[in-house]
Amino acid sequence: MKPAPFAYVRAGSLDDAFALLAEHGDDARILAGGQSLMATLNMRLSAPEVLVDINRIDGLAGIEETGDALRIGAMTRHVDVEESPAVATHAPLIAAAMDHIAHPAIRNRGTFGGSIAFADPAAELPACAVALGATMHIAGKSGTRDVAAADFFEGLYETAIRPGEILTAVSVPKITAGWKSGFLELARRHGDYAIIGLCAHVDLDGGTFGDANLVFFNAGDRPVSAPETAALLKGQTWSDDLADRLAASLKDELDPPDDLNADGPMRKHLAGVLVKRTLGPMAGE
Ligand code: FAD
Repeated sequence: MKPAPFAYVRAGSLDDAFALLAEHGDDARILAGGQSLMATLNMRLSAPEVLVDINRIDGLAGIEETGDALRIGAMTRHVDVEESPAVATHAPLIAAAMDHIAHPAIRNRGTFGGSIAFADPAAELPACAVALGATMHIAGKSGTRDVAAADFFEGLYETAIRPGEILTAVSVPKITAGWKSGFLELARRHGDYAIIGLCAHVDLDGGTFGDANLVFFNAGDRPVSAPETAALLKGQTWSDDLADRLAASLKDELDPPDDLNADGPMRKHLAGVLVKRTLGPMAGE
């Protein structure tokens, strides 16, 4: 299918983009990598009158170290995140996720910020952001504000970005000594959206678990944390019994949706499989 007719405007600066978004209101959409937006336009799921291209705005792309965090510009392409030594060193969870996001052609154009702003519940990066306790930097005509990843995802494709605002960057805390990250997803084919996936970020002292964040994707209308199950890890070492208790807890704690790929009970079962396959090896089993 072809998209409905639309006008295209390239913003030269953030102020330029804010003015265009204010002028066109609900009729405008921000164009980043276009890898999700153009598909929704082509399928006529969305028919904006104006696309505001933010690709040429200075300062929105790049990865920089800011003390104890990595600041990833919203317009940083997936491929640049994937190939970043800083991401590999300081955010191994994100490094592990990148290869699972679609295919190289899509990762060449798709952007880190586009993936976060689009807030597809099946996407990898929103769940990584929640598991790592990232901070989203949002700018608008009246200034800038920061939103914690845990508060940013408000529902199905819904975020804390308000009309007229742009996500400019995401700050990801650098991994600290003693913490380990694990990433695993189950998909029909590599590069497909996952049936369900897990981002695990855990404090591991020798083989003993401490605090832990377990965040699932494609398990609800946004990244889904499982704090009650994560709490069962505290003070424990890995064992088959612990694995069984975690899997049983996830059956109570998660309420994943049914779709053509799997129903809710199947997803609950797979969540337990993911936890076993991820945390066991992290604990050295
Ligand atoms: P765009 O498509 O340009 O924009 C997406 C939406 O976000 C639009 O509504 C846009 O207005 C808004 N937006 C973009 N940037 C900003 C910003 N800075 N501030 C405010 N709003 C903004 N993704 C996955 O995570 N996992 C997958 O397995 C996966 N598989 C894919 C397979 C295919 C075949 C395709 C086509 C895409 C796939 N994607 C997948 C999506 C891909 O990762 C996209 O690149 C990403 O979701 C959107 O990034 P983008 O830069 O292309 O954003």
